[in-house]
Amino acid sequence: MPYQREEMITASEVARYVYCQRAWWYDHEQIRAGRFKRHTRPKGRVGKGQITYNGEYAERLNRQLVSYDYGLTGRPDYVIDHDGLPVPVLRKIGRAPEAPFDSHVAQILAHCLLIETTLRVPPPYGIVRYNDRTFEVDYDPPAFDALMHLLNEIRAEKKHTSAPHRSHEIPRRCFGCGHQKTCQDSLIQV
Ligand code: SF4
Repeated sequence: MPYQREEMITASEVARYVYCQRAWWYDHEQIRAGRFKRHTRPKGRVGKGQITYNGEYAERLNRQLVSYDYGLTGRPDYVIDHDGLPVPVLRKIGRAPEAPFDSHVAQILAHCLLIETTLRVPPPYGIVRYNDRTFEVDYDPPAFDALMHLLNEIRAEKKHTSAPHRSHEIPRRCFGCGHQKTCQDSLIQV
């Protein structure tokens, strides 16, 4: 059954959920209360009208992408062409980790799904690009299944009325989190 506009999950929300479920929940509550702007882009990122893809599908891809079938929306930073197939790129500022962060993998897979549902042509992979290194993330059946599982989990979690527990053991995530002062699950003492 197609989803309504107000039921949409954004690709960046998927990334936030993977980053920390509790942080995602706080964001979600603020959105509900109208205190959080949902589609802001970090400074320095590619903005509206700047997507650099000029290939065959440019007209259909240079806009906010929406899948009513999967209840997902988002917009790749840019799209490149690989043997006639569109490949979304997620640009991240900073040095690359050993492997792309799981939240970035989830976000680029969401962009792959959006491109597939828009064009009926699946990208073979997506790209996560850090300052000093680029990773290819396969968009294959296991990745698709994992993304479906994640979307279902987020949708189920939205029905809950209390914040989930922290979903990681990584202090750095709490250190950079805007909810650190109000979160009782934070790994950083303030
Ligand atoms: S402070 Fe840590 S546990 Fe709390 S919401 Fe932020 S990232 Fe999650």
